Amino acid sequence: MEPLLTIKDLTAGFATDNGAVKAIDRVSLSIGKGQTLCLVGESGSGKSVTSLAIMRLLEFAGGRILEGSIRLAGNELTDQTQRQMIRIRGNQMAMIFQEPMSALNPVFTVGDQIAESIRLHQRKRKSEAKQMAVDLLRMVGIPDPETRARQYPHELSGGMCQRVVIAIALACRPELLIADEPTTALDVTVQAQLLDLLQQLQRELGMSMLLITHDMGVAARMADQIAVMYAGVVVETGSVEALFDQPAHPYTVGLMQSVPSMEGERLSELRTIQGHVPSLHALPAGCRFHPRCPHAMPRCTSEAPPMMTVGTLQQAACWLYGDVAAGFAGAPDSDN
Ligand code: SF4
Ligand code: MG
Repeated sequence: MEPLLTIKDLTAGFATDNGAVKAIDRVSLSIGKGQTLCLVGESGSGKSVTSLAIMRLLEFAGGRILEGSIRLAGNELTDQTQRQMIRIRGNQMAMIFQEPMSALNPVFTVGDQIAESIRLHQRKRKSEAKQMAVDLLRMVGIPDPETRARQYPHELSGGMCQRVVIAIALACRPELLIADEPTTALDVTVQAQLLDLLQQLQRELGMSMLLITHDMGVAARMADQIAVMYAGVVVETGSVEALFDQPAHPYTVGLMQSVPSMEGERLSELRTIQGHVPSLHALPAGCRFHPRCPHAMPRCTSEAPPMMTVGTLQQAACWLYGDVAAGFAGAPDSDN
């Protein structure tokens, strides 16, 4: 079965005062129907740029898709006009962000805001849309939704507001929900409740989800597949089991070691790998991770490693697995 979303060699960047920079470079990913892909990595690794590019919202953030393909349910999104994208964003995909307050308008009631977004995408009478808004509030677990619908964002807690944002995203019954650090701004208990809610809604609605997080605990809990990004490139992909049991790329190994094993405590941010994510203006040659890598070899400083198969459906961009890849590539020598 064709995945719902397939991204191939997606390259995107920004024009800056210091010249043009590629924020992501040949990113390839796919998400199956009803599956969750977690995109993980430190901040500045290109996770948000990837999600904005998929939504075709990068243009509004001053960026641009330079190359590559984004296919959603068989449609090539890079070929669509922004006018066409409004329809696609309204019907097939939706996005939620870290800060719920910035997604809501302070001067309208939450019910009106949900109803408005319903009417943007579907021909409904005002009264009908208002009733649907109440139903959506109920669906995202807001108690006494009739009363809540008449309230303004500032009358609701941060967690409630994020539920409202989720309700707005779901108003169009998206096939793909992109969530960029949706729980990072919230406290631990609320975070857990919202992750449960997202999982439950995903099951009920059969949505696919692209979940962006810097928190490996969130990834472990939510992901079917994980893609690890570092300095604008995908360095490893695989099932959640494979990446947690046998991380292959030294960066992924570092991420795993940075997750403390305290039950019930908030998992800390990824900061135990020595060194920093390089600036996009000064990317190291060869493997972008080599200045921080404990296994760096001479070729790592000059040759960028391609994605190599390291296990069943697990791939890593690292020369440590070069021999394996050479073995695979070398075998069918006779058939050309
Ligand atoms: Fe480390 Fe080399 Fe692998 Fe890069 S390619 S992660 S520097 S071993
Ligand atoms: Mg981000």
